[in-house]
Amino acid sequence: MFDAQRIVAFSQQETPFYFYDLALLQQTLDAAKQAADIHNFHVHYALKANFNHRLLNAICKAGFGADCVSGNEVKKAVEIGFRSTDIVFAGVGKSDREIKYALTQDIFSFNVESVQELLVIDGLAADQGKKARVALRINPNVDAQTHHYITTGLDENKFGIAQWELPEAIETLRQCQHIELIGIHFHIGSQITDLNVFKSLCVKVNELNNWFDERGFRLRVLNVGGGLGVDYHQPDASLVPDFLGYFSVFANFLERKPGQEVHFELGRALVSQCGSLVSRVLYVKNGIKKNFLILDAGMTELMRPVLYQAYHRIERLDQTESETEMLHYDVVGPICESSDCFGKEVLLPKSERGDLIVIRTAGAYGEVMASHYNLRNEIRYVYSDDIQQS
Ligand SMILES: *Cc1c(COP(=O)(O)O)cnc(C)c1O
Repeated sequence: MFDAQRIVAFSQQETPFYFYDLALLQQTLDAAKQAADIHNFHVHYALKANFNHRLLNAICKAGFGADCVSGNEVKKAVEIGFRSTDIVFAGVGKSDREIKYALTQDIFSFNVESVQELLVIDGLAADQGKKARVALRINPNVDAQTHHYITTGLDENKFGIAQWELPEAIETLRQCQHIELIGIHFHIGSQITDLNVFKSLCVKVNELNNWFDERGFRLRVLNVGGGLGVDYHQPDASLVPDFLGYFSVFANFLERKPGQEVHFELGRALVSQCGSLVSRVLYVKNGIKKNFLILDAGMTELMRPVLYQAYHRIERLDQTESETEMLHYDVVGPICESSDCFGKEVLLPKSERGDLIVIRTAGAYGEVMASHYNLRNEIRYVYSDDIQQS
């Protein structure tokens, strides 16, 4: 349950801040783990969605692996206590330094995004006298039906190895003495709400799985990435995403060969709903054409609306039953950019300076994207169980 009263209890705190509902996080993690366990699926948490340390600790303790997209994320995962055998490392531009570090940690898999990267990893593994485990990230040209800025699996995207490059990739692999090909990897995009998209992905994975098999590669791992979406419009109606439905698509449509493991990399679906951005109204501007609510939070605290034209539900927190006058507001931040806007024509009870506003479903790709633009303060956050101290 989303507990608005709990946030109100923090209202003496200086705003803006992120509020993390750890009980809801735990409920979400348990649901995901149980649903994955039914099919023996392995789930790695994509650290880039949120690397707040309390969240990471809970996720690690709940038994998830880690999906990293930088050397520092690998380092963070190791420090938090994720087992190196549960860490995967993707990214189109891994530097030598990052690869060397990950090799010293003996991570489970490099998800390799180009033929050239295979050669680089092979050379660096040779220097350390090691054999690197890799999965080829293949661009399956499947349309994720999501915002084009978060689509990653189309021919026009920079990610992964194109299918026409695969013959060259396997020739290269045959020459690489310090690489063991363990599997194939896909990640087609984010905030995917149409499960049919994952069905199409399964069809592609099956085709490619057979293609490798016919060429004598016995793959141990099918890694289908992440991307499961959450409900930004009606968060209270589905605080915990439908993990059962999601995993059952793969259970039904993925053709596993004997001994093959299926791996996932979920980010957004695990942490979105447990996070909210809490802010205060600084000023109200009532105009002829527009009413503006000017908040003390802006794009420097939550960039998704500016970056992806993303929708977030905006609510007045200390709303009383008797309030009847509703107004449409453009809810904006204080940053010197016209795009610094959380929502246009948002219907809210008539508001005034000092009112608390909560921006929902902000646990993923929120705090991690905070910036110092305009020399803004360090982002602040509180946890639901901090309540006693406040
Ligand atoms: C970002 C990312 C994910 C997680 O995506 P979500 O949409 O947050 O589930 C998984 N795998 C890779 C390679 C990524 O870059």
